Amino acid sequence: MSVPSQSDEAVAVAKRHIPVSQPMLDSREAYFVNDALAKGAISGFFGEYIGLFEDEFARYSDCAYGVANSNGTTALHLGLLAVGVRAGDEVLVSTFTNMATIFAILYIGATPVPVDIEPDTLNMDPALLESLVTENTRAVLVVHLFGHPVDMDPVLDVARKHRLYVIEDCAEAHGALYKGRKVGGLGDAGCFSFYANKIITTGEGGMVTFKNKAFADRARNLKGLAFGDTNKFMHKDVGYNYRMTNLQAAIGHAQFQKIDEIIERKRALARNYDTQFRSLVGVQLPVEKPYARSVYWMYHVVLTGPNRGRRSEVMRRLAQVGVETRETFVPANLQEIFVTEGWTSRDACPKANAVSEDGFYLPSGPQLTPDELAYVGEQFVRILENPA
Ligand SMILES: *Cc1c(COP(=O)(O)O)cnc(C)c1O
Repeated sequence: MSVPSQSDEAVAVAKRHIPVSQPMLDSREAYFVNDALAKGAISGFFGEYIGLFEDEFARYSDCAYGVANSNGTTALHLGLLAVGVRAGDEVLVSTFTNMATIFAILYIGATPVPVDIEPDTLNMDPALLESLVTENTRAVLVVHLFGHPVDMDPVLDVARKHRLYVIEDCAEAHGALYKGRKVGGLGDAGCFSFYANKIITTGEGGMVTFKNKAFADRARNLKGLAFGDTNKFMHKDVGYNYRMTNLQAAIGHAQFQKIDEIIERKRALARNYDTQFRSLVGVQLPVEKPYARSVYWMYHVVLTGPNRGRRSEVMRRLAQVGVETRETFVPANLQEIFVTEGWTSRDACPKANAVSEDGFYLPSGPQLTPDELAYVGEQFVRILENPA
């Protein structure tokens, strides 16, 4: 058998492995999960942790109501259903997102209309909304990407003028602030994910936050098969089983106790990388606008100028020295499954297209040590300054 050859840089640091993200778990999660198990409360209908987690998380997000559910994708589906988006409606949505955002709109039979981004925040550009509104537009679905809130005031102005619902995809932005107010309570519904790499996690999980009780009641009913009130098996509507289990909520209750610590760690990580990369040329770093307090879900960079086109080389060389990275999202308007259907066109959102080829994110886990951050930074700077 031949020995695999390794480059010098790989040999020197072969022992390192720094993942893109890792959940921050300790004995607290085990304690609450074991408590739920001991009480036999394991489903999504019974058990104290579901209500506990819903209440504490909704309050944290400046909302009166929280509806826990099975994941971020179903949270988006429930949020859209709760406010009354229907088949045939158009929903204005940021093109640059996890495609779950777009899929949720399609589940309803509504039409996603991709909106291009601001090149610095990578969020939906509110200045483009007005020109995309038609008589069929029913809602705007904003995505607070990588933990940075969308510039909401101009979005809300357009929404008020045209009587549109505003849904927030907060899957990457738990605890982020827009002008001092928490995301999730800025529109009509806030949709969160608790997947393993999100700000806090329940393994798989989601929540929709509402200020309006009627919307919350509708989402709660729909997530549990829309059972009837008096005769349980006379259903009120076509329901879904999108329930979060009490075991997942027990993990969420433990995670919730650490949310501010995790956010502080994410922010410190971003300041650390920012300082290390301050004088680098040919790379766009994450911004934090004056209106924003970002939670830096992932530290996302875009190669620019002389470094354009180098993404796969840089990612491969970082992997060789044990630094895991992940390429950025592919915009909705470039997705083959949508383009071939004729739902969008490749050139619909040029700014998102430009970022999508040169963007990726660096390790961003809350428990990375100063030593690990220094190591990632050194490797990134060295590779960027020495093209292969
Ligand atoms: C993760 C994510 C989702 C989907 O959440 P799941 O829990 O994985 O279903 C939706 N939107 C955005 C922006 C996300 O990052």
